[in-house]
Amino acid sequence: MTDRKILLVGNWKMHLNVQQSSLLVHRLHERIRIRRDIELVLAPSMLSLQPMSVQIDRRKFRLAAQNAYHKDEGTCTGEVSFTMLQDLVHYVIIGHSERRIYFGETLEVVRDKVAAALRNDITPIICIGETEVEHKAGETRQVLHDQIVTALSNVTSSQVKELVIAYEPVWAISTFGGTLAKPSDVQETLNFIRAQVKDLYGPSAAKAFRLLYGGSVDNQIVRGYLELEGCDGALIGSASLNYEKFSGICDAAYRLQTERGEQ
Ligand code: PEP
Repeated sequence: MTDRKILLVGNWKMHLNVQQSSLLVHRLHERIRIRRDIELVLAPSMLSLQPMSVQIDRRKFRLAAQNAYHKDEGTCTGEVSFTMLQDLVHYVIIGHSERRIYFGETLEVVRDKVAAALRNDITPIICIGETEVEHKAGETRQVLHDQIVTALSNVTSSQVKELVIAYEPVWAISTFGGTLAKPSDVQETLNFIRAQVKDLYGPSAAKAFRLLYGGSVDNQIVRGYLELEGCDGALIGSASLNYEKFSGICDAAYRLQTERGEQ
């Protein structure tokens, strides 16, 4: 067994009602074996979290919410707070590009959500990534720098070690075009992200926090990203809704961990 687990997070986005979610969990449960060197996280809709928390085998799956509101309680009709999610989920996805783009989530909103997650003992999965326009204009590093510095502005160095950052170039996400990013380019950006965290918090924090890649990842191509240095796993959208593809992604991760363990 290797010392670092691979973290695979399935973001089901606004798909599947409670019954459909239950069926998908059932299918995944049948196909996926428990492996201590892989951590599997499912992020269904808010409505499915409670029934799924009863249904899942907790040795196999953990739960994430796709979003939450940064205030703990109050006159905020229609919102669900991190406080309310405390006993249900291990993780909350924060700053997903669909939320930044469709719902106008600013850098400061993301910062406040990260603080709310940590205050409520929930691990944030902070999504960062540049748009196609920014990418083409050569602004990737500046964009990521601003996203990282703002998101982490209330985070201590011991907290940063526990959190997860997912690098998701917006242009690579299926929602926004799904152009596949070259693993060699992703490697450079992952190195840049770790270097940013190192500048802010020092080498041990930069090594400890988990860094994922996301952007049209499926069972055929996942290995190319999981093999990258400093890549701790993947955030998977569309392919996580298909039990054959998602279990194929898990199989690819198992194979990689087995090979690493044998080396
Ligand atoms: C996502 O939703 O974070 C994502 C990466 O989606 P997809 O895998 O469909 O591109």
